[in-house]
Amino acid sequence: MGRLEGKTIIITGGASGVGEAAARLFASEGAKLVIADLQGERANQLAEELGGDCIAQKVDVSRSADVKGLVSKALESFGQLDVMFNNAGIGGGERLIHETPEELFDRTIAVNLKAVWLGIKHAIPPMLDAGSGSIMNTASVSAHLGLPQQGAYGASKSGVVQLTRVAAVEYADRRIRVNAICPGGVLTPMVYNNPALRYTLDPADAEQRLAQAQPLPRACQPIDIAHAALYLASDESSFVTGTTIVVDGGWTASGRARMDNPSGLEDLYQK
Ligand code: NAD
Repeated sequence: MGRLEGKTIIITGGASGVGEAAARLFASEGAKLVIADLQGERANQLAEELGGDCIAQKVDVSRSADVKGLVSKALESFGQLDVMFNNAGIGGGERLIHETPEELFDRTIAVNLKAVWLGIKHAIPPMLDAGSGSIMNTASVSAHLGLPQQGAYGASKSGVVQLTRVAAVEYADRRIRVNAICPGGVLTPMVYNNPALRYTLDPADAEQRLAQAQPLPRACQPIDIAHAALYLASDESSFVTGTTIVVDGGWTASGRARMDNPSGLEDLYQK
């Protein structure tokens, strides 16, 4: 029997990177899935590939009506919502604060922070009715480190960590758990095909750089983050709430506020 048998799960940002890896892993563990993404076509293709109990929904997670509709879609399709994985996100522009356009700051906060608040807000009512639930929010090591050129991104992710704590305490007595995951650098399009970086990178090159960006000498793959999400989604974590699981190959433990290895990613952010 799969570790997520009988559970209905929404994954936002489910068409790419971490969300896609989670969708594949959760489906293999028996979950019913709603793959939600701005990239509707990619979400559809993945849902078709995974088959059976897997559907897709095009959403902009920064829009309340879209997120409300997403939760309704899960309830209409599968009759329940057990897990909400608020994972969609965008790079924050990687600019010094005084060079960051205000619109970029606003959009980063809208997609990375307000959307998580909306995801919690709309997922909670059916979970209250059911008397249980697990909410996972993708934050970042940027919430814990003063990474240069990540003012907007880091602020949004710190907000996610704090929102996670507050929600965990607000709903613990109703048996709804809320946790965050803080990845370091992960080999996804956000790293190698991120318009915010103002150029793209060959994925193999990105992999090589990521392998040297933290103490563990390999690149973090999306599945590394999906495994942490699987634990938090499953009943194995039933006494875990209000916490953050850091999956960063030892980056924050090393205490470096910047990746100072010249072969690491830091130089990407200097361009
Ligand atoms: P990704 O770009 O591969 O995937 C992000 C997905 O989110 C994309 O499919 C995109 O279409 C979707 N998305 C973006 N804006 C959206 C919106 N408004 N509405 C709906 N969907 C939207 O990147 P990823 O690395 O898989 O990112 C997943 C999460 O991990 C993000 O929250 C990101 O901030 C976080 N994260 C990533 C890294 C990294 O190095 N890749 C590090 C730390 C945290």
